[in-house]
Amino acid sequence: MTDSRFNQQVVMITGAASGFGQLLAQRLAAGQARLVLGDRNEEGLRSVAQALRNTGAQVVDLACDVTREAQVKAMVDAAVNTFGRLDIGINNAGTGTPPKALIDTEEAELDFNFAVNAKGVFFGMKHQIRQMLTQGNGIILNVASMAGIGGAPKLTAYCAAKHAVVGMTRTAAVEYARKNIRINAVCPFYSPTPLVTEGLGLSQEFLAQGSPMRRLGSPDEMVSAMLGIIDPANSYLHGQAIAVDGGVSAY
Ligand code: NAD
Repeated sequence: MTDSRFNQQVVMITGAASGFGQLLAQRLAAGQARLVLGDRNEEGLRSVAQALRNTGAQVVDLACDVTREAQVKAMVDAAVNTFGRLDIGINNAGTGTPPKALIDTEEAELDFNFAVNAKGVFFGMKHQIRQMLTQGNGIILNVASMAGIGGAPKLTAYCAAKHAVVGMTRTAAVEYARKNIRINAVCPFYSPTPLVTEGLGLSQEFLAQGSPMRRLGSPDEMVSAMLGIIDPANSYLHGQAIAVDGGVSAY
């Protein structure tokens, strides 16, 4: 069955070269959304965008390091210049530093995590909301983490930055509640994207032990939940940090 929820919607996605961002782009393109995709990995982004164009999708791709405000703003500008508006902003780009104890964590690791995971989301919301105020509506999804609502041992810097994402999401949701701009965060538990399979250094079997289901959520399951949150029909879902965690937060 074709997913018609996002037909012709203009959607901006940061971190679209891999993992959740890539899958979001694929699922939204299949539903006839029009896309503005950004990533700091230019080569990966070009290949994701080209593959989508080959299926007939309307896609603009821009090299974008989300730690650079001007580059994030350029994605919003590209949406407006190409498609005339921005319906949905997904601030998904994120990364981490190798796990280590709090007492061994360096200031530079804290700064790096904040620059990408927190400031990147802030820049996204700032320019998306400015455009959405102009057009009179919009939907924003920030990709936080379970580390944004609970403690994450050995991930102090990542955890702090993801908590900042949840705080900014709630603040923006309250600030713009009467402006017809709907803003939420999603908080996934571990899922086997390259961030986890290549960057974390912990086995999926080990990570799955933390879940009541004793398994990780697939990227497809995570993205299905994200699409539900941004579904325009979910118009009263606002200001939430929604755990997609196979029951972890139910413990
Ligand atoms: P991923 O590594 O597959 O994809 C992340 C993408 O973000 C990559 O394409 C990367 O190049 C891009 N990126 C990183 N830094 C960037 C920057 N400065 N500017 C622009 N792009 C940048 O990982 P993923 O799991 O798909 O991660 C997507 C989001 O989901 C991240 O915010 C991550 O923190 C969050 N998350 C992931 C998990 C998980 O288990 N996979 C769990 C919770 C939250």
